[in-house]
Amino acid sequence: MKTIRASHIAIGTELTSAQTLNTNSPTIAKFLQEMGIKNQAHIVVPDDRKLIMQSFDFIAPETDWLFVYGGLGPTTDDFTRDMVSEWTGKELQLDESVWQHIQDILTQRGVVVRDFQKHQAMFPVGAHIMENSKGTAHGFHLSAKGKEIFILPGPPKEVQSVLENYLHQWVKEHSTTSDSEITEIWNTMGLGESEVSYQIENLVKDYDVVVGDRVH
Ligand code: ATP
Ligand code: MG
Repeated sequence: MKTIRASHIAIGTELTSAQTLNTNSPTIAKFLQEMGIKNQAHIVVPDDRKLIMQSFDFIAPETDWLFVYGGLGPTTDDFTRDMVSEWTGKELQLDESVWQHIQDILTQRGVVVRDFQKHQAMFPVGAHIMENSKGTAHGFHLSAKGKEIFILPGPPKEVQSVLENYLHQWVKEHSTTSDSEITEIWNTMGLGESEVSYQIENLVKDYDVVVGDRVH
């Protein structure tokens, strides 16, 4: 069996400028780790078309499942769906039922519906919509470039919603083919870090394991 490798790209200038802490990728990474998927890399990029594109190219050869967070909203700095469309070569098309749903939510909230809002109802051809019950921007999942690509909204509550509505089930069904990594944690007390490290290296030398030491 082959280990499934996942990678994460969080997009937002509020993240690179440290106004907001990136909690989205760790949330999904933790879930994937529990499901036996290997988390390969995490990247954080600003709302910058060139850097977003470069981050896709950089991580692509090292990943089977790609998770992208943020930039799905209606504002001018939200262009993740355009970048994904360009990168995968899959054109965006309007989903009429999602557009109707967005108009209903906006009307209920007393917000004037404007044409630019339509952008949130555009998805790459062949993408599955991942329902977001906490906001207007649904996520989407597409298969392209030999990968499974998952695009999620930025607000953590909305990431949680997509996790519960779609990813939980999908990952459960598709992680069974992954050669899982198991994490064992040993807590030790009373010995120095180097002594513990020396003893553990001796214990595990005949096994296919990766050892990591953490002091706290
Ligand atoms: P919106 O419809 O709210 O614009 P969006 O998908 O475009 O959704 P962003 O505009 O990128 O998302 O982010 C909205 C808010 O979500 C940000 O202001 C930030 O507070 C939070 N957020 C975005 N990305 C992350 C992240 N990786 N980790 C934690 N919080 C985040
Ligand atoms: Mg953003």
